[in-house]
Amino acid sequence: MTRQSGPHLTAHRPELASPGIAQIYLERLGVRLEGQSVAGVETWLRVPEWNLGIDVGRAPEPSARCKHLALTHAHMDHAGGLAQYLSLRQLYAFEPPTVYAPAESCADLRMIVDIWGKLHNRAFDWTLIGMRPGDEAPLGGGRWLRALPADHVVPALGYAVLERPRRRKAEFAGTPTGALRQLAESGVAITEATERVLLAVSGDTRPSVLDHVEELRTAEVVAMETTFLDRRRTVADARVGGHTHLDDVLARADGIRPHVFIPYHISQIYTPSAARAALAERLPPELLTRCRPLLP
Ligand SMILES: [Zn+2]
Repeated sequence: MTRQSGPHLTAHRPELASPGIAQIYLERLGVRLEGQSVAGVETWLRVPEWNLGIDVGRAPEPSARCKHLALTHAHMDHAGGLAQYLSLRQLYAFEPPTVYAPAESCADLRMIVDIWGKLHNRAFDWTLIGMRPGDEAPLGGGRWLRALPADHVVPALGYAVLERPRRRKAEFAGTPTGALRQLAESGVAITEATERVLLAVSGDTRPSVLDHVEELRTAEVVAMETTFLDRRRTVADARVGGHTHLDDVLARADGIRPHVFIPYHISQIYTPSAARAALAERLPPELLTRCRPLLP
């Protein structure tokens, strides 16, 4: 492999991007969520504005543009593109990336990447950070990545992106501005950090996370693995693979509160139009208005 210089190399090569990429503009957050996700085939997502990728089942050129990469688990369709992602970043002379992954999987992921480095006769320059539920890492720009619990057939995580804006403490709600300034000058803490969960991505998981993972209930945008959508596969079929069925989502529809709900990781047994039709037919109207499935 020849190392070339500069990220400009691919700027005029739109044909390198795969045709089936889904793009969802999240008006509230002022960012795009884009990527491709077909259960068992490939899942890679990214939010370019946050320099964050989530999973890299395959590594088309756009997926390599994010410096932070959070892997939900080490199944091939979610992590199989890791070495290719690292290789593309090296080819384009992008900054060495930071990859986050379930702590239990890190030793094996490192071994695979080391072997690829050996085959290339050049080690990859990257940082791998093992995560457990609740662990956080800074993404820059005042945002944090937090690992969420997931319930899959191998060690797995979901991820949330959050901010911690400061807000005036409730006890000072009626205090006039002049008095507030005096209090602040005398060293009284008049504000406190709050938490704003911008995005939560479930990762591959059984649906119990919708009941007990707080971030999936409070995030402004939630991407939820919804592998099967109708009777073509049963809830029991979904459980075998450690997955969620739309029936599971419907059973919890009243508790699903995000402004945007994004079903993803939809099985290849549904064409995009069949998937949209199943969602339109089965979701309650109010949830359907907030639903933006990750489909091309
Ligand atoms: Zn999986």
